[in-house]
Amino acid sequence: MSTETLLEVKDLRVHFPTGDGLVKAVDGLSFTVDRGDTFGIVGESGSGKSVTNLTALGLTDRNAANITGEVLFKGRDLLKLGKEDLRKIRGKEMAMIFQDPFSCLHPFYRVGDQIVEAILCHDKIPKKQAEQRTYDLLGAVGIPKPKERFRDFPHQYSGGMRQRAMIAMAMAHNPDLLIADEPTTALDVTVQAQILDLIERVKTEFDIGVILITHDLGVVSEVANKVMVMYAGRAVEMGTRDEVFGNPQHPYTWGLLESIPHVDHKGSKLVPIEGAPPSLIRTPNGCSFHPRCPHRFDPCDKDDPEIKDRGAGHPDACHLSAAEKTRVWAERQAPRTKAAS
Ligand code: SF4
Repeated sequence: MSTETLLEVKDLRVHFPTGDGLVKAVDGLSFTVDRGDTFGIVGESGSGKSVTNLTALGLTDRNAANITGEVLFKGRDLLKLGKEDLRKIRGKEMAMIFQDPFSCLHPFYRVGDQIVEAILCHDKIPKKQAEQRTYDLLGAVGIPKPKERFRDFPHQYSGGMRQRAMIAMAMAHNPDLLIADEPTTALDVTVQAQILDLIERVKTEFDIGVILITHDLGVVSEVANKVMVMYAGRAVEMGTRDEVFGNPQHPYTWGLLESIPHVDHKGSKLVPIEGAPPSLIRTPNGCSFHPRCPHRFDPCDKDDPEIKDRGAGHPDACHLSAAEKTRVWAERQAPRTKAAS
């Protein structure tokens, strides 16, 4: 599998002027996604993860937001493209699936016809050929008897099948990048695993890159090879899955990890992160996590920590030294390790 860079986001800022002040939904974000990556973006609601990807797709209203930085998709800056050029890229070279497939499918049209329409939107091919491609796509995403199920309406599909149909529609034009925004949140746990497997299979078979947006670090740990943890519009930690899960560096990442249930940690308590995310209009001075951080110390409420490698081998945005983080994380882990033994 090649490692071509598909998406390079550089110092992206998306600020919305409002009557109450400037909402800094994304504030200085940089990351890259290569072909073959499953790039997991994780954070609480309002952390900026969805706005980042909507902006990358050109779906953030430029009249309503001040957008700066660069979003390079295969070398072209999407922030400089007009609506028509963006429309050609969107759906064809970049595709997106959302949390609730039911709201994305028109209830009065047959599922197959909706996929045919999506194909014909970009490809001027005979309708019969588009129908054949739809059968193939439905089969490829695991819909049984695709020719029969082509004629079903969305309500005749289960939740998992609807998400499969959305993935089929997203793959209709062999995009290079698939953005999946909370694709499993509305599904039963058993179906969640199937959809995550399917996204991974589609990624490998079509040789694409995937951005997986989720509030659930457990989901990311299942499939992502790279992880970016976001808080208050910024990245606070970034690295490979092994780096972030094996040697987490940021107290917010620790909080997320401690809130994931583990079957092998039976008896240990889940620890919630105290407090709530800050208002994006009035983010705290210094480290934006400091009002919730049990490890804050002198500079935290004054100096804003930049995201950089502080000796752990991957970047984080926390003033604590790598050695101090190792000690504190081991201390926090001790009760869970004890409960598991
Ligand atoms: Fe906590 Fe300070 Fe690190 Fe922010 S910089 S996460 S407040 S220790």
